[in-house]
Amino acid sequence: MFHDGFRIIAGPCAVESRKQINEIASFLSSVGIKYLRGGAFKPRSSPYSFQGLGIEGLEMLYEMKAKYSLRVVTEILDYNDFGHFKGVDILQIGARNMYNYSLLSKIAGYTSKEIMLKRGLAATITDWLSSAEYLKVGGNSNFFLCERGIMRYGQEMRNLLDISSVPYIKQTAGYNVIVDPSHGTGRRSLIIPLSKASKAIGADGIMIEVHSNPKEAKSDSAQQLNFSEFETLLKELDI
Ligand code: PEP
Ligand code: MN
Repeated sequence: MFHDGFRIIAGPCAVESRKQINEIASFLSSVGIKYLRGGAFKPRSSPYSFQGLGIEGLEMLYEMKAKYSLRVVTEILDYNDFGHFKGVDILQIGARNMYNYSLLSKIAGYTSKEIMLKRGLAATITDWLSSAEYLKVGGNSNFFLCERGIMRYGQEMRNLLDISSVPYIKQTAGYNVIVDPSHGTGRRSLIIPLSKASKAIGADGIMIEVHSNPKEAKSDSAQQLNFSEFETLLKELDI
């Protein structure tokens, strides 16, 4: 368990503009959220899709951090960008980089910042734990894991959200594990039930994509909650 209790990380898939991230950060802080997520460097499956605002996006996140006293969570794709990530509170290693041992080792060796390691796109639990081991051996044990689902058969949902990994990892390795039902299901309507399930099975937190206008989102439009849906989620979680 985290020292500050059940951790809720929320925010848009990607930082899209100053106005967008400000609306979202302002709302989240008004409902008591302490951790703001938002991709500045986005690992998109297609090179033609929106790739994020990069350094400009990071700077907007830092403005939100200062303005609303939020802790910032964002993904690092390339070790060479590290110099720009100094203001980030939690470095996200995304699903596509779980197997990037060079990135894991370099980041772990360079910083004692908290790291969130997401499960690889089709990774076994053993492989995921091995990647966590790279962080430890590299010199950073200040990490937690994020279950975000693995590839599934069928198109009904984006991924197969394997919440069984949470108690398994907690029992065998003792790490903190949170769940990302947004990428885990890809469907807005499933976020609340899967968040409740995650809390019930002992997850240490959840990461939820929230957008001021999900329909207009530049990425992951179908899985982002609007503000009133997010408030319903908080109510249903009894937080
Ligand atoms: C994300 O959380 O922004 C993301 C890209 O997720 P994943 O790495 O799990 O696909
Ligand atoms: Mn996303």
